[in-house]
Amino acid sequence: MQGHCLRYNQNKMKYPVITAPFLKVDGMALFPFILVKRQNMKQDQILIRHETIHLRQAAELLVIPFYFLYLVNYIINRFKYNNHHQAYMHIVFEREAYAQEKNAIYLQTRKLYAWLEYLK
Ligand SMILES: [Zn+2]
Repeated sequence: MQGHCLRYNQNKMKYPVITAPFLKVDGMALFPFILVKRQNMKQDQILIRHETIHLRQAAELLVIPFYFLYLVNYIINRFKYNNHHQAYMHIVFEREAYAQEKNAIYLQTRKLYAWLEYLK
């Protein structure tokens, strides 16, 4: 990707990435920050894209309702699947993030409320 306009688009809506060694997971979206466990993870584009997708989801739900819905979705899934990993992977916000984290142009093409497409 070359050129001033493309570079501008790629850089818009960047959220600050902070190293947080106490994290139990590799990355976390704590609006408006992305927390990563280790310094070198700031270069992990898939991880950063995954967490950026969560921050887009959070922004369009005015932040607090995003975290509430995320938790409620997890609890419902926890009863449904009786398994932590399955419950987590089926959270609608995770479904979008995992489905698109390897898509390099996703953040430039994503539509508002795209996670609704991942509700069954
Ligand atoms: Zn996630």
